[in-house]
Amino acid sequence: MATGVEVVPLALGQVTPRRGPFAGKRAPIHAFLIRDPGGPFLVDIGAGSGHDGIDTLYEQDRIALTDALAATGCAPAGIAAVINTHLHFDHCGENRLFAGGPIYVQAAEYKAAAAYAYTVPEWFQFPRAIYEQLTGEAEIASGVSVLQTPGHTPGHQSVLVETEGGLAIIAGHAAYTAAEYADREPAPGGDWDDAAYERSLALLRALAPGRVYFSHDAVIWER
Ligand SMILES: [Zn+2]
Ligand SMILES: [Zn+2]
Repeated sequence: MATGVEVVPLALGQVTPRRGPFAGKRAPIHAFLIRDPGGPFLVDIGAGSGHDGIDTLYEQDRIALTDALAATGCAPAGIAAVINTHLHFDHCGENRLFAGGPIYVQAAEYKAAAAYAYTVPEWFQFPRAIYEQLTGEAEIASGVSVLQTPGHTPGHQSVLVETEGGLAIIAGHAAYTAAEYADREPAPGGDWDDAAYERSLALLRALAPGRVYFSHDAVIWER
Protein backbone atom coordinates (compact mmCIF):
# COMPACT_ATOMS: atom_id res chain seq x y z
CA MET A 1 0.00 0.00 0.00
CA ALA A 2 1.44 3.33 -1.01
CA THR A 3 -1.05 5.90 0.21
CA GLY A 4 -0.69 9.35 -1.26
CA VAL A 5 2.43 8.54 -3.24
CA GLU A 6 2.26 10.24 -6.60
CA VAL A 7 4.38 11.37 -9.52
CA VAL A 8 3.92 14.99 -10.60
CA PRO A 9 5.46 15.99 -13.97
CA LEU A 10 7.10 19.43 -14.03
CA ALA A 11 7.15 21.04 -17.50
CA LEU A 12 10.40 23.00 -17.84
CA GLY A 13 10.01 24.42 -21.34
CA GLN A 14 11.98 23.23 -24.31
CA VAL A 15 15.32 23.29 -26.08
CA THR A 16 15.82 23.39 -29.85
CA PRO A 17 19.19 22.43 -31.35
CA ARG A 18 20.45 25.10 -33.75
CA ARG A 19 22.66 22.68 -35.70
CA GLY A 20 23.46 19.00 -36.22
CA PRO A 21 21.14 16.11 -37.13
CA PHE A 22 18.36 17.33 -34.81
CA ALA A 23 18.51 21.02 -35.83
CA GLY A 24 15.13 22.69 -35.44
CA LYS A 25 13.59 19.71 -33.62
CA ARG A 26 12.09 21.02 -30.38
CA ALA A 27 12.62 18.86 -27.31
CA PRO A 28 10.28 19.48 -24.39
CA ILE A 29 11.95 18.99 -21.02
CA HIS A 30 10.35 17.53 -17.92
CA ALA A 31 11.43 16.86 -14.38
CA PHE A 32 9.32 14.87 -11.93
CA LEU A 33 8.35 15.42 -8.33
CA ILE A 34 7.65 12.27 -6.34
CA ARG A 35 5.39 12.99 -3.40
CA ASP A 36 6.29 10.32 -0.90
CA PRO A 37 6.37 10.08 2.92
CA GLY A 38 10.17 9.57 2.73
CA GLY A 39 10.57 12.44 0.26
CA PRO A 40 9.66 14.47 -1.62
CA PHE A 41 12.11 13.44 -4.32
CA LEU A 42 12.97 15.17 -7.54
CA VAL A 43 13.89 13.23 -10.68
CA ASP A 44 16.03 15.40 -12.96
CA ILE A 45 16.01 19.17 -12.82
CA GLY A 46 16.11 20.39 -16.42
CA ALA A 47 18.62 22.68 -18.08
CA GLY A 48 20.47 25.58 -16.49
CA SER A 49 20.89 29.05 -17.96
CA GLY A 50 23.56 31.57 -18.83
CA HIS A 51 26.07 29.25 -20.48
CA ASP A 52 27.48 30.64 -23.74
CA GLY A 53 28.32 27.23 -25.20
CA ILE A 54 24.80 25.87 -24.62
CA ASP A 55 23.22 29.11 -25.88
CA THR A 56 25.26 28.82 -29.09
CA LEU A 57 24.14 25.25 -29.70
CA TYR A 58 20.55 25.48 -28.47
CA GLU A 59 17.67 27.87 -28.47
CA GLN A 60 16.13 27.67 -25.00
CA ASP A 61 12.60 28.46 -24.01
CA ARG A 62 13.06 27.65 -20.40
CA ILE A 63 10.82 27.49 -17.36
CA ALA A 64 12.94 27.73 -14.21
CA LEU A 65 12.79 24.71 -11.95
CA THR A 66 12.10 26.86 -8.89
CA ASP A 67 9.01 28.32 -10.62
CA ALA A 68 7.71 24.91 -11.67
CA LEU A 69 8.33 23.60 -8.15
CA ALA A 70 6.62 26.61 -6.55
CA ALA A 71 3.48 25.80 -8.56
CA THR A 72 3.35 22.45 -6.71
CA GLY A 73 3.86 24.12 -3.34
CA CYS A 74 7.50 22.97 -3.04
CA ALA A 75 10.86 24.69 -2.87
CA PRO A 76 14.35 23.27 -3.44
CA ALA A 77 15.08 23.36 0.31
CA GLY A 78 12.17 21.00 0.91
CA ILE A 79 13.43 18.28 -1.45
CA ALA A 80 14.83 15.25 0.39
CA ALA A 81 16.97 14.00 -2.50
CA VAL A 82 17.51 14.36 -6.23
CA ILE A 83 17.76 11.43 -8.62
CA ASN A 84 19.42 12.15 -11.98
CA THR A 85 18.42 9.76 -14.77
CA HIS A 86 21.69 10.84 -16.40
CA LEU A 87 23.97 13.86 -16.47
CA HIS A 88 23.38 15.53 -19.85
CA PHE A 89 23.00 19.31 -19.52
CA ASP A 90 19.21 19.21 -19.90
CA HIS A 91 18.80 16.83 -16.96
CA CYS A 92 21.29 18.17 -14.38
CA GLY A 93 21.38 21.90 -15.24
CA GLU A 94 20.35 23.12 -11.82
CA ASN A 95 21.76 20.37 -9.63
CA ARG A 96 23.64 23.14 -7.81
CA LEU A 97 20.36 24.23 -6.22
CA PHE A 98 20.73 20.98 -4.30
CA ALA A 99 24.23 21.49 -2.95
CA GLY A 100 24.57 19.41 0.20
CA GLY A 101 22.71 16.60 -1.54
CA PRO A 102 22.21 13.80 -1.77
CA ILE A 103 22.03 13.43 -5.56
CA TYR A 104 21.65 9.82 -6.68
CA VAL A 105 23.33 8.80 -9.92
CA GLN A 106 24.72 5.58 -11.36
CA ALA A 107 28.49 5.22 -10.90
CA ALA A 108 28.86 4.51 -14.64
CA GLU A 109 27.12 7.80 -15.42
CA TYR A 110 29.23 9.77 -12.95
CA LYS A 111 32.33 8.41 -14.65
CA ALA A 112 31.02 9.10 -18.17
CA ALA A 113 30.10 12.70 -17.30
CA ALA A 114 33.74 13.60 -16.65
CA ALA A 115 34.47 13.21 -20.38
CA TYR A 116 35.03 16.33 -22.49
CA ALA A 117 31.79 17.88 -23.85
CA TYR A 118 29.57 15.25 -22.17
CA THR A 119 27.80 17.86 -20.08
CA VAL A 120 28.33 21.38 -18.74
CA PRO A 121 31.10 20.73 -16.16
CA GLU A 122 30.02 23.52 -13.77
CA TRP A 123 26.40 22.34 -13.82
CA PHE A 124 27.62 18.86 -12.87
CA GLN A 125 30.31 19.76 -10.31
CA PHE A 126 29.99 22.66 -7.87
CA PRO A 127 30.78 23.40 -4.21
CA ARG A 128 29.13 20.90 -1.84
CA ALA A 129 27.98 18.62 -4.65
CA ILE A 130 27.23 15.32 -2.94
CA TYR A 131 26.70 12.51 -5.42
CA GLU A 132 25.69 9.11 -4.14
CA GLN A 133 26.99 6.72 -6.77
CA LEU A 134 24.84 3.63 -7.25
CA THR A 135 25.67 0.41 -9.03
CA GLY A 136 22.57 -1.07 -10.62
CA GLU A 137 19.28 -1.47 -8.82
CA ALA A 138 18.89 0.46 -5.56
CA GLU A 139 16.14 1.45 -3.17
CA ILE A 140 15.95 5.19 -2.44
CA ALA A 141 13.01 4.90 -0.04
CA SER A 142 10.29 2.36 0.60
CA GLY A 143 8.49 2.00 -2.75
CA VAL A 144 10.93 4.23 -4.65
CA SER A 145 13.83 2.56 -6.44
CA VAL A 146 16.10 2.98 -9.43
CA LEU A 147 16.94 0.55 -12.20
CA GLN A 148 19.91 0.86 -14.52
CA THR A 149 18.69 1.42 -18.11
CA PRO A 150 21.80 2.12 -20.20
CA GLY A 151 21.57 2.91 -23.89
CA HIS A 152 20.93 6.62 -24.23
CA THR A 153 24.04 6.98 -22.05
CA PRO A 154 26.35 4.44 -20.33
CA GLY A 155 24.84 4.94 -16.87
CA HIS A 156 21.25 5.97 -17.49
CA GLN A 157 18.77 4.96 -14.79
CA SER A 158 14.98 4.93 -14.58
CA VAL A 159 12.89 5.31 -11.43
CA LEU A 160 10.22 2.90 -10.21
CA VAL A 161 7.51 4.23 -7.91
CA GLU A 162 4.85 2.15 -6.16
CA THR A 163 1.73 4.30 -6.23
CA GLU A 164 -1.87 3.66 -5.25
CA GLY A 165 -2.58 3.21 -8.96
CA GLY A 166 0.14 0.56 -9.30
CA LEU A 167 3.69 0.70 -10.59
CA ALA A 168 4.70 3.98 -12.19
CA ILE A 169 7.97 4.24 -14.10
CA ILE A 170 9.82 7.46 -14.74
CA ALA A 171 11.64 6.21 -17.82
CA GLY A 172 13.59 9.46 -18.23
CA HIS A 173 15.37 9.27 -21.56
CA ALA A 174 15.21 5.44 -21.78
CA ALA A 175 12.58 6.11 -24.45
CA TYR A 176 12.15 9.42 -26.19
CA THR A 177 8.35 9.35 -26.50
CA ALA A 178 5.35 7.39 -25.27
CA ALA A 179 4.73 6.24 -28.85
CA GLU A 180 8.22 4.80 -28.96
CA TYR A 181 7.67 3.01 -25.65
CA ALA A 182 4.44 1.59 -27.11
CA ASP A 183 6.45 0.42 -30.14
CA ARG A 184 4.51 2.66 -32.50
CA GLU A 185 7.50 4.72 -33.65
CA PRO A 186 11.26 4.11 -33.85
CA ALA A 187 13.86 5.67 -31.57
CA PRO A 188 15.26 8.91 -33.04
CA GLY A 189 18.82 7.54 -32.80
CA GLY A 190 21.96 9.36 -31.74
CA ASP A 191 22.23 7.38 -28.52
CA TRP A 192 25.33 5.86 -26.95
CA ASP A 193 24.47 2.18 -27.61
CA ASP A 194 21.42 1.18 -29.64
CA ALA A 195 21.44 -2.49 -28.60
CA ALA A 196 21.64 -1.58 -24.90
CA TYR A 197 18.86 0.98 -25.46
CA GLU A 198 16.57 -1.73 -26.87
CA ARG A 199 17.42 -4.11 -24.03
CA SER A 200 16.64 -1.44 -21.44
CA LEU A 201 13.34 -0.62 -23.10
CA ALA A 202 12.40 -4.31 -23.13
CA LEU A 203 13.28 -4.51 -19.43
CA LEU A 204 10.95 -1.60 -18.59
CA ARG A 205 8.08 -3.03 -20.68
CA ALA A 206 8.49 -6.41 -18.94
CA LEU A 207 7.80 -4.77 -15.58
CA ALA A 208 4.22 -4.18 -16.82
CA PRO A 209 3.83 -0.70 -15.32
CA GLY A 210 0.50 1.08 -15.11
CA ARG A 211 2.01 4.42 -16.14
CA VAL A 212 5.25 5.55 -17.73
CA TYR A 213 6.63 9.11 -17.78
CA PHE A 214 9.20 10.51 -20.22
CA SER A 215 11.70 13.37 -20.00
CA HIS A 216 11.02 14.62 -23.51
CA ASP A 217 7.35 13.85 -24.05
CA ALA A 218 4.41 15.39 -22.20
CA VAL A 219 2.35 12.30 -23.06
CA ILE A 220 2.10 9.81 -20.20
CA TRP A 221 1.82 6.20 -21.32
CA GLU A 222 -1.00 4.37 -19.56
CA ARG A 223 -1.86 0.69 -19.67
ZN1 LIG B 1 20.42 12.85 -22.61
ZN1 LIG C 1 17.42 14.06 -22.56
